[in-house]
Amino acid sequence: MEQQLKELQNQALEQIAAAANLKELNDVRVAYLGKKGPVTEVLKGMGKLSAEERPKMGALVNVVRETISESIEEKQELLEAAAIEQKLAQESIDVTLPGRPVKQGGHHPLTRVAEEIEDLFIGMGYTVAEGPEVEQDFYNFEALNLPKDHPARDMQDTFYITPELLMRTHTSPVQVRTMQKHEGRGPVKIICPGKVYRRDSDDATHSHQFAQIEGLVVGENIRMSDLKGTLDMFAKKMFGEDREIRLRPSFFPFTEPSVEVDVSCMCGGKGCSICKGTGWIEVLGAGMVHPNVLEMAGFDSNKYTGFAFGMGQERIAMLKYGIDDIRHFYTNDLRFLKQFSVHE
Ligand SMILES: [Zn+2]
Repeated sequence: MEQQLKELQNQALEQIAAAANLKELNDVRVAYLGKKGPVTEVLKGMGKLSAEERPKMGALVNVVRETISESIEEKQELLEAAAIEQKLAQESIDVTLPGRPVKQGGHHPLTRVAEEIEDLFIGMGYTVAEGPEVEQDFYNFEALNLPKDHPARDMQDTFYITPELLMRTHTSPVQVRTMQKHEGRGPVKIICPGKVYRRDSDDATHSHQFAQIEGLVVGENIRMSDLKGTLDMFAKKMFGEDREIRLRPSFFPFTEPSVEVDVSCMCGGKGCSICKGTGWIEVLGAGMVHPNVLEMAGFDSNKYTGFAFGMGQERIAMLKYGIDDIRHFYTNDLRFLKQFSVHE
């Protein structure tokens, strides 16, 4: 019987050592120490033993039980620690793995141009003014010397929402709103960037939505020469120190006199495809603020004078970057946009 118990113990220890996980170990526990297990069977058979043998065997059975039980506990601790190790290994972060690349965006070419122009004028004491894109007829037309029946309204084909409400056709209403806020007191020095809308058929040079940037200066003794000096500096900063400007007489209802402003071409006047052989490129419209516009906005036109100029951001960007189709700005083609995503 003693021999039987020894073998039982050895078998159990072998199986415990071989258990690869907690479930297998539990199976060993049930098999050897459970109610139907071999150790219990041995205990049941003790009744047949003599009085001298019984305590000796009883002690031996207990030793075997304890040995198996201790061995199982030891193994259990080992397996539990291993399980935790495994879990930690699975959940740990490998800091040596390369990160996922984050695609970096860049400013839209129109934003770049607008910011460059804004910075230029902010440096000369201008402030940036903005206004609503859905505008009242009064601010878009009437206050700019364009009463309801004025034929020049046809120059700007308009998206009307109601007879009195429209999508602004230029950023000039911002000039009117700003002048009103000044309540007849100068000086006013603003630059107004923003989106504008016209009922145009889209092609390489026209878009029903585009971006303008306008400037307005109102004060005492503001003269045409101030306008010319300002625009000359703008052209040199924007396109290069060797550039020059020329003014051609034109007509706008809100300025008198009015001019179209050309910048000398990068070909140096020899003539190329960009300037269509003329040596000059038309870049903006400008003029002295019409006395009617000043009066409508609450300024005394005997005391105050002013100049205004306006340009398309797209046109400036196209000239500056050599872009040949205005639609590139709106189609969100990354191959186009990426060329401008230089990070400063
Ligand atoms: Zn040219």
